[in-house]
Amino acid sequence: MAGENQKHQLHIFFFPFLAHGHMIPTVDMAKIFASRGIRATIIVTPLNVPLISRSIKESIDLGLPINVLPIKFSSQEHGLPEGCENADSMSSPSLFPAFLKATTMLQEPLEQLLQEHNPDCLIAGSFSPWATDSAAKFGIPRIVFHGTGFFPLCVNESIILHQPYKDVESDSDPFVIPNLPGTEIQMTRMVLPYYVMTVEDNFVSKLIKAAKQSEVTSFGVVVNSFYELEGIYADHYKKVLGRRAWNIGPVSLCNRDNKEKSYRGKQASMDARDCLKWLDSKKPDSVLYICFGSRSDFTEPQLKEIAMGLEASGQNFIWVVRERKKNKEEQGGDIDQDQGWLPEGFEKRMEGKGLIIRGWAPQMLILDHESIGGFVTHCGWNSTLEGVTAGVPMVTWPVSAEQFYNEKLVTQVLRIGVPVGVKKWVPVVGDYIEKEAIVKAVKEIMEGEEAEEMRKRTKKLASIAREAVEEGGSSYCDFNHLIEELEGLSK
Ligand code: UDP
Repeated sequence: MAGENQKHQLHIFFFPFLAHGHMIPTVDMAKIFASRGIRATIIVTPLNVPLISRSIKESIDLGLPINVLPIKFSSQEHGLPEGCENADSMSSPSLFPAFLKATTMLQEPLEQLLQEHNPDCLIAGSFSPWATDSAAKFGIPRIVFHGTGFFPLCVNESIILHQPYKDVESDSDPFVIPNLPGTEIQMTRMVLPYYVMTVEDNFVSKLIKAAKQSEVTSFGVVVNSFYELEGIYADHYKKVLGRRAWNIGPVSLCNRDNKEKSYRGKQASMDARDCLKWLDSKKPDSVLYICFGSRSDFTEPQLKEIAMGLEASGQNFIWVVRERKKNKEEQGGDIDQDQGWLPEGFEKRMEGKGLIIRGWAPQMLILDHESIGGFVTHCGWNSTLEGVTAGVPMVTWPVSAEQFYNEKLVTQVLRIGVPVGVKKWVPVVGDYIEKEAIVKAVKEIMEGEEAEEMRKRTKKLASIAREAVEEGGSSYCDFNHLIEELEGLSK
């Protein structure tokens, strides 16, 4: 038994939504808690355990109190293909509702783990609104992790509350996001996620509603952001919208050495040392990095258009392309993976100038290299923040989810990027963008005075981000407030 003066060591359960865009920042968060002496246990399904184990190995070797626990899950029982335990392994976006439904079946096994391990708090992804009740059964607080920043949270809430999309006649008419502080933001119905507008009560829209509701019914929300990036929206979220929230990011900054930076998410398809060697051979700020996150999977004509755009832009580049599984399966196995989507002789012509990574890239390692001068991104929240912390201007190319909100933050609020010109929310495959638009946007962030100004602004934010997570910084202090509150509860 602990002596009277011995402080109780907090133990926190982390239960992320099973997608890389949620698991990666959750693991970073757990590492931060562990680095401050708090016991962190990450709960994921069996097939995700090796990914997490690899990411936390360095922390474990340092003796930090962090571990991963498997939770029972059978994908086939829920009508999903065998081994489908991660949104990334879904063969088609149409499986997403079934995947979400399957994750609700994790409630009972999660409660068993809560009973066995008796943690002090449960930090769970927003797609598990039921986790608030589960935590309550064991008398502990549940904290929500959405995986996005304050700006997108505020824009989304404004759209739900005020329904401004009802005031316009056509899908392409712009409307202003009401009751939002700062820069006026306009959007169209075409770029809104269907679930913020839908009146239909299907499983997904009900789940999203419940997820929003759990912001209010749970203990609060942890946000992967820093106050100096989007302070007026953090204040709006807390003071006007009345949410309890703590900004503790950018959480990716807990990864300090090259190993940690390259062990996030999946096994990289290119050796980190080879990547660095290639980047070392380039001048500072001279390489463009192109990646559309863990879930986007563009059509072959779009990939070809990107290839032509990159070649015409004249820039050095590293381009990450998802593995072309469909191509192989559809065309009977052993075929040239690149058939159909790369212009004839493209890689030969690009030798020494451009690199294609097929599969998974060590993104953080690449972005942080001094030769990277620009980032073409789909504006997932993690990528956006990683672009900021790397100090690189961005070409914004949103695809779906809340990515169109993030685009506005980058291009209009922070003014550290330019839009490629996407007009429509289209999950996974995205809206079609032509070569000319790609060349124009890429040049705007890589060349000329405007690009230099954007680069300066981003580099400044990158240095402020680092200060935010150091002792005495805004995120460091907010983290302390959260811990003090949790310690107060567990006494
Ligand atoms: N990522 C990576 N390598 C890749 C693709 C993605 O390391 O080839 C990481 C990226 O650094 C980020 C996360 O995966 O941390 C993707 O999250 P984001 O919110 O940007 O997009 P999502 O995948 O959720 O759409």
